[in-house]
Amino acid sequence: MQRFSALSLFRHGLGRHQGWKPQWRQASPKPTYDAIIVGGGGHGLGAAYYLAKVHGIRNVAVLEKGWIGGGNTGRNTTIIRSNYLFDESARLYDHAVKMWEGLSKELNYNVMFSQRGVMMLAHNVHDIQSFKRHIHANRINGVDNEWLTPEAAKAYCPPLNIDPKVRYPVLGAALQRRGGTARHDAVAWGYARAADALGVDIIENCEVTGIRRDASGAVSGVETTRGLIASRRIGVSAAGHSSVIMDMAGVRLPLESYPLQALVSEPVKPVFPCVVMSNTIHAYMSQSDKGELVIGAGTDVYTSYTQRGGLHIATHTLEAICELFPQFRRMRMLRNWGGIVDVTPDRSPIIAKTPVPGLYINCGWGTGGFKATPGAAHLFAHTIARDEPHPINASFTMERFRDGFMIDEAAAAAVAH
Ligand SMILES: Cc1cc2nc3c(=O)[nH]c(=O)nc-3n(C[C@H](O)[C@H](O)[C@H](O)COP(=O)(O)OP(=O)(O)OC[C@H]3O[C@@H](n4cnc5c(N)ncnc54)[C@H](O)[C@@H]3O)c2cc1C
Repeated sequence: MQRFSALSLFRHGLGRHQGWKPQWRQASPKPTYDAIIVGGGGHGLGAAYYLAKVHGIRNVAVLEKGWIGGGNTGRNTTIIRSNYLFDESARLYDHAVKMWEGLSKELNYNVMFSQRGVMMLAHNVHDIQSFKRHIHANRINGVDNEWLTPEAAKAYCPPLNIDPKVRYPVLGAALQRRGGTARHDAVAWGYARAADALGVDIIENCEVTGIRRDASGAVSGVETTRGLIASRRIGVSAAGHSSVIMDMAGVRLPLESYPLQALVSEPVKPVFPCVVMSNTIHAYMSQSDKGELVIGAGTDVYTSYTQRGGLHIATHTLEAICELFPQFRRMRMLRNWGGIVDVTPDRSPIIAKTPVPGLYINCGWGTGGFKATPGAAHLFAHTIARDEPHPINASFTMERFRDGFMIDEAAAAAVAH
């Protein structure tokens, strides 16, 4: 693998940067693999990397129907935090935050993880009670989270409007200082490059169209647009299309897929120091390193596979953003887009074995799976390699929806994420 360092940059600079090689091979499918991962997003590429690195399973293919990172990994607003209510969630998401803290070094690739703090605004009595409950629960679980008065929130984020006479007054905020953002493309590219160096085949433009099972019912391979590929272990990490793929093996998932959209403004000088979220309004914002304001909206109300959201959803979000941050009223939006998010009834993910031997699923991350990328990938690889879950993901099964052991972050937050 080409190493990135000050010295290698200097050396390549002498050659006018003409000597850099592609970061990963354009692999063609082999007839058989020890494990196949369906979906070349951060979660799938990361799982392939940890299968090779941690478990020594290197004869692995990642099959991606488009280009890597072209799904939700490259479409999200990159908010990273771990201040979820339930013990299971706190363990899961904080496992990921701890991994984010060393990820650039681990991959020798700058994923631009920036712990600038995530502030969640409270606009009503319910928000205050709910966030304070989260803060207490988080502290018991060793996860940082603190309560800010409106004045303290404004001191942390000066553009914030704390005038009490507006439609959504800011009555306080919960701040996780270890939360922040990362560069989404770099996460996909960093994992792809590191997995490729360990022998993983990353196969783009290869859509999975069927899952083969043998006489015992166990998986035996996948049908793809590039032919049949055999494997006794198949991990599906396909976000909004998870239920479509699992249906190919006769497995029904408790998922609904919705469009979720985001938009960015024209770039401006650094003006916005942290991440601000308002679950009540369904708007969140940060500023990218290029200077664009990155704004996220809520999900559409209807299930759909179109990768764009309703105009009225974005309009509602922008109205709220203008009220919270009046100084941005005259900024122009450069572009907007959507992704398809896979939402479970309790808004917690599934990382688990399935009733089909050899078939594993990592899905249900809905509007909030980017933050979990390294942790989810690490746990999914463990589940595939050992044919049993890691203690951290043991509760995140499909069966919890049958047995009633929900991890109900939807009820805890009273919003979709
Ligand atoms: C607008 C938006 C904003 C978001 N904001 C945040 C945020 O701020 N913070 C956060 O934590 N999360 C956020 N999310 C959610 C987050 O993006 C996802 O949960 C996460 O990226 C999922 O990663 P993944 O690798 O599982 O999925 P993806 O990156 O979507 O990868 C799945 C891949 O599977 C491929 N695929 C599908 N079907 C097939 C097939 N048949 N054969 C082969 N390949 C197939 C797709 O092409 C895709 O590349 C947001 C999502 C959206 C859409």
